[in-house]
Amino acid sequence: RQNERESLYIILNFAKNFYVNQLHDTEEGQAIGLSYFRERGFSQETRQKFELGYSLDTWDALSREALAKGFSVDILEKAGLLIHREGSQTAGYDRFRGRVIFPIHNVAGKVIAFGARILKADKHGRGNQPKYLNSPETEVYHKSDVLYGIYQAKNAIRQKEHCYLVEGYTDVISLHQAGIENVVASSGTSLTVEQIRLIGRFTPNITILYDGDVAGVKAALRGLDLVLEEGLNVSVVLFPDGDDPDSFVRKVGAEAFKEHIRKASRDFISFKTEILLQDAGNDPFKLAAVISEVVNSVVKIPDAIKRQVFFHRISEMMKVDEQMLISEGNKLLRKTH
Ligand code: ATP
Ligand code: MN
Ligand code: MN
Ligand code: MN
Repeated sequence: RQNERESLYIILNFAKNFYVNQLHDTEEGQAIGLSYFRERGFSQETRQKFELGYSLDTWDALSREALAKGFSVDILEKAGLLIHREGSQTAGYDRFRGRVIFPIHNVAGKVIAFGARILKADKHGRGNQPKYLNSPETEVYHKSDVLYGIYQAKNAIRQKEHCYLVEGYTDVISLHQAGIENVVASSGTSLTVEQIRLIGRFTPNITILYDGDVAGVKAALRGLDLVLEEGLNVSVVLFPDGDDPDSFVRKVGAEAFKEHIRKASRDFISFKTEILLQDAGNDPFKLAAVISEVVNSVVKIPDAIKRQVFFHRISEMMKVDEQMLISEGNKLLRKTH
């Protein structure tokens, strides 16, 4: 098993180098991949830092090269790089073809998987092709444990005692380029406890920067009770509708971006309360449900003093008696402990 993991790291590193070389050393890579990254404003330094690459639009450029170098079909398949059809006479075909490549690194900097983006895409993809294609789960890649950019961000997170959490690869990369390096991405999935604990190894302070669309807001709400349970301090920043951190920082520049974060940053409990209150309108039943829901979040916070602070604040926001909230909270706490 240990041996297999080592072999996977080796083939994944080989593939990463292959994709980087194809980006720079082939006509197709330059004309399509490199110009794509340039159009997105990713500098050479940025491309190197994230080891961005390109996979040629052929069936088997990578696997053919790897097999010639002595790697086996089996290890290529186990690494998620080769798709082999059962009963087929041929070795199979490359998973990533005609896409720009975002290697995914573990905390130690080893490549464990790839994200691969189609070049021209509408919101979700093109035709029946998804916008992003990712490596499957493998012996070294468990999607739900991984945060994109953690290797490149970990020192800055420690130093700033703060971590920004975004949705996408390109958000991480654009923010780095704007000088904001304490940033990681959940890569579109809802946040998991493993991801939160990974951030918690470096800092207790998280600010969530999700996309300014309904999906982004919902994702922000979904992940967050989990973060509270882990005792981390969570704030949320939303962007104007249609923007994500990448498009916003390119539009307004690094300074205005930081200013927006300072101004628009809300602690999670207030953020959640406000969103739920908007939904509830004046319906007393819905309002009652909002109160329970928010109290439920507050009691997830392990620290008693922080809980008191939040009970005070939300009693003002919801215009309800603070003592009532506290006693509702205590009921829930007795139930769970
Ligand atoms: P871009 O700016 O390149 O269009 P994005 O990062 O803004 O991409 P979103 O649509 O906001 O893309 O999605 C956020 C993240 O979710 C992506 O970076 C990717 O990790 C993941 N994702 C998006 N679409 C897919 C998909 N079809 N399959 C798998 N993962 C996806
Ligand atoms: Mn989105
Ligand atoms: Mn984007
Ligand atoms: Mn986005």
